[in-house]
Amino acid sequence: MKLRKTAAAATLAVLALTATACGGESGNAGDKPAGSAGGKDQPKLPTYKVATDVKLDSPTLQRAQKAGKIVVGAKNDQPFLGFEDTDGKRSGFDIEIAKMVAADLGFKASQVEFKTVDSNVRETTISKGEVDLYVGTYTINDERKKQVGFAGPYFLAGADLLVRKDEKGITGPDSLKGKTVCSIKGSTPLQEIKKPKYGAKTIELSKYSECVQQLLNNEVDAVTTDDAILKGYAAQRNEKLKVVGKPFTKEPYGVGMSKNDKVLRDAVSDAIEAHQKNGDYKKAYDATLGLSGSAYTEPPALARY
Ligand code: GLU
Repeated sequence: MKLRKTAAAATLAVLALTATACGGESGNAGDKPAGSAGGKDQPKLPTYKVATDVKLDSPTLQRAQKAGKIVVGAKNDQPFLGFEDTDGKRSGFDIEIAKMVAADLGFKASQVEFKTVDSNVRETTISKGEVDLYVGTYTINDERKKQVGFAGPYFLAGADLLVRKDEKGITGPDSLKGKTVCSIKGSTPLQEIKKPKYGAKTIELSKYSECVQQLLNNEVDAVTTDDAILKGYAAQRNEKLKVVGKPFTKEPYGVGMSKNDKVLRDAVSDAIEAHQKNGDYKKAYDATLGLSGSAYTEPPALARY
């Protein structure tokens, strides 16, 4: 357990170093910092107007208001989406989504406390009330809706494959027979790739950065998860890794929260809609995920329930 943690920390440190060490010299997306903007020619992150006197009949919001902060579960090893650098600074599209939603709920950026929660413990962490919201490449589906609530979707991704740059044999999910594919416990792409029709062997870890390290070490043949996540890793390791580019699932991202808090669910969907309309959403995208080479597409329609 201890070893695993140390390995994950080392991988993160390596990725973070790679992200900052190259500092935009070649003008390549992979040389940009991990999902943060603000360089001379880079798109600027928006600032979000903080709402005042927010009163909602939401137990989660009331708990957060009492605490004077909102606790948001996020990823820490997904460049351009949810990334934490060695100074503890968080950046990425999901981090911006969290900040814009928090602002509409009355919380300044300094009142948003991020907590790293990996895929396999999301539902339990949310259900136990250890986070108020969760924004971390979290696919909305019926199975998960039995345990948690979702606002959104705010983005549509699809499972894809990350391979080494010199890979010739893996051209899509149908070319994985006998190949070893790494993915993450508790993630939908892992569930998909385990289907017998693909004939792949799977390695199941807790953090995506560990899978990427195994790919770089020639220990696995591919990593599978959402294209948006994989493009971030490929952008950072442009000379070593590539995304196959044949998405084979639909992964609509939602903001996770307590299952029965409909008032909060609606308020978060309202916030997402408002920031899509006022342009913040696209600005945030351009300054984060857009830097990894994911072209901007119109967001999916919100699905309130
Ligand atoms: N979007 C997928 C999921 O929610 C994969 C990414 C992740 O593990 O966060 O399972």
